[in-house]
Parts: sequence; structure tokens; C-alpha cells
Amino acid sequence: MEVSAPSRAVRFALVKVVAPMSIDERLDLEFAYTSYGDSCRDLFSPSYRCRRPFGHDGEHAAGFGTHRVLWLHHPDHGPDAPPMT
Ligand SMILES: [Zn+2]
Repeated sequence: MEVSAPSRAVRFALVKVVAPMSIDERLDLEFAYTSYGDSCRDLFSPSYRCRRPFGHDGEHAAGFGTHRVLWLHHPDHGPDAPPMT
């Protein structure tokens, strides 16, 4: 009996599971699970504050989809807003 190759649907499912999340998908998740009070809130512009968790690594980020902005922290600039207590 011949063993057939996985069907197209199965291969698609495998790719979805194995493929790492894109940066955008990861940021969407971070924003979804981080309350405003727990977020970094580094200021990018009057309309954008970082929505990643306070103390995160790497670039600051805000906004969704085409409005997403990423920026590096200014070395002379402390955390814009500490966590609310
Ligand atoms: Zn940040």
C-alpha cells in the first residue's frame, strides 16, 4: 500500500503551527494583555505612548495595523511614566 503525502490542509496547518509569530502579531498580543497602567507609556508623540509592558526589552511600540509605530528609547530620557499603583 502506498503512503500518500499529507493533504494540502494538513500541510497548511503544520506551517501555521511551526511558523514563528511575526513582530506585529507579538505586539498585538502584548498590547492585548497589558493594561494601560502596566504599560511603559514612553512618549513618542502627543498621540502615541508605548503600550508594551513596563520594563520591556527593545524598541517602544504603539498603535495597531498601519498606525503602528516603533521607536528606540532616547538614552537621556528616563522612563516616561512608571507603573501606576
Ligand atoms: Zn516602551
